Amino acid sequence: MPKKLANYINGQEVAPRSGRYLENYSPVTGEVYSLVPDSGAEDVNDAVAAARAIFPWWSQRTPEQRSQVLLKIAERIEESLEDLAQAESFDQGKPVHLARELEIPRAAKNFRYFATKILHTEEMARPMGNYLSYTHRAPLGVAGLISPWNLPLYLLTWKIAPAIACGNTVVCKPSELTPMTAYLLGELLNEAGLPHGVVNIIFGSGASAGAALTAHPEVPLLSFTGGTATGRKVLENSIPRFKRTSLELGGKNAAVVFADCDLSEAVITSVRAAFQNQGEICLCNSRILVEESIYEKFVEKFVRTTGLIHVGDPTLKETQMGPLVSREHREKVLSYIKLAADEGGTIACGGSIPELPAPLKGGYFLNPTVITGLTPSCRVMQEEIFGPVVSIVPFRSEEEAIEIANGVEYGLSASVWSRDVGRAHRVAQALEAATVWVNCWMVRDLAMPFGGAKHSGLGREGGDHSIEFFTETKTICLQV
Ligand code: NAD
Repeated sequence: MPKKLANYINGQEVAPRSGRYLENYSPVTGEVYSLVPDSGAEDVNDAVAAARAIFPWWSQRTPEQRSQVLLKIAERIEESLEDLAQAESFDQGKPVHLARELEIPRAAKNFRYFATKILHTEEMARPMGNYLSYTHRAPLGVAGLISPWNLPLYLLTWKIAPAIACGNTVVCKPSELTPMTAYLLGELLNEAGLPHGVVNIIFGSGASAGAALTAHPEVPLLSFTGGTATGRKVLENSIPRFKRTSLELGGKNAAVVFADCDLSEAVITSVRAAFQNQGEICLCNSRILVEESIYEKFVEKFVRTTGLIHVGDPTLKETQMGPLVSREHREKVLSYIKLAADEGGTIACGGSIPELPAPLKGGYFLNPTVITGLTPSCRVMQEEIFGPVVSIVPFRSEEEAIEIANGVEYGLSASVWSRDVGRAHRVAQALEAATVWVNCWMVRDLAMPFGGAKHSGLGREGGDHSIEFFTETKTICLQV
């Protein structure tokens, strides 16, 4: 029997007012394993009312008091590591070990980081003769937090933690495709002693629950992570209402590999950067640009290393890739692989569905796919695919590499591989991407600004940027 999930409003499990549910399929087996509330505007109203009711009290707690609760939440996540990792894997498709080692611990770190960060934020004061000018920082009210399916708990808690640390209350709308860890989080928040109503979680589709949240007049700030087209819809609701809005959107990230790099390291890390989490990380590289003189060698090594990736049962230690998140998403990715062939590309490896025994037979697995021979203007080289598909193309000069890398509408992240320090800095600075890694990938300090350039986002979160986003700073000047 599929498990019936509930919204989390004012600390209670609440059924959607409509009584309707969405079927949630596990990508691992292709079977319905939960029923997700198909919430709408009425449920969002209830959640916003709960969040508004507790806001005056929660916002008046001292940073120390809020910090204590956030630390307890982190503890409960750490204590529930195994359950959360299993749930996230079955819900989303990633190998359990990836959830256990990376994503669930990172969700706990999000709370730990902001629990301690708010203890050290300072205001500014400027004496001006007979006057003293100083800043006063206050939370804004109810924050609407909308998250995607690829890193369900990690990305949701990246928003909840700073929002409530700063004294806001929140209404969350996690992805309807991966509701399970958010559902489990509700209980952990209660066990950690978070006052009811500070966090509320509404499940449902983007068009219904998501849109109602972004349009709600009593939600003055929105933090959204998801696709660029959806980000545009969020803005359409937020701009006329002057909502403070942060958007973390899609990408078409490039790795630029120069002939003087450490080739083995560049290949190993680039394979990981293309296929980790089935290529379903916004920061995955989907374009690899390789200097002409090492192009053939790089492709040969890259394809060989990709061939070693174990695709299959996400519960096994040796599995590096599980299934894609949904049947529809796999169809979309397969359509791009077909398009690559139509655009003149060569499928150097992958492109097929692996043969797996029951119960995995019904899952949405796909072999990691490497494409060569495309030109940079092809749709496959321009559009976000968000799956285990990477294109490799050669370049002749540093200028040409920068031109190709920048020749897309996105600007999320990029990587540079070179032992020439001067060139590494020069290229990193010239790339139109908000995060650039040199000779590495996905190394992140939570204090550093994170976001997207061009169509990859608006604003920056992380460290002081998150504190800035989730508070209103006022300048007060008094005569002394
Ligand atoms: P999506 O845009 O389809 O959905 C994201 C969330 O928005 C979901 O909760 C969805 O229900 C909701 N939503 C959909 N329509 C809505 C609407 N009209 N109003 C309000 N909410 C709505 O994205 P996805 O398919 O869940 O996730 C994949 C995308 O997310 C990719 O483009 C990926 O690059 C991006 N992403 C970006 C980052 C980043 O940090 N920049 C991180 C992870 C994922």
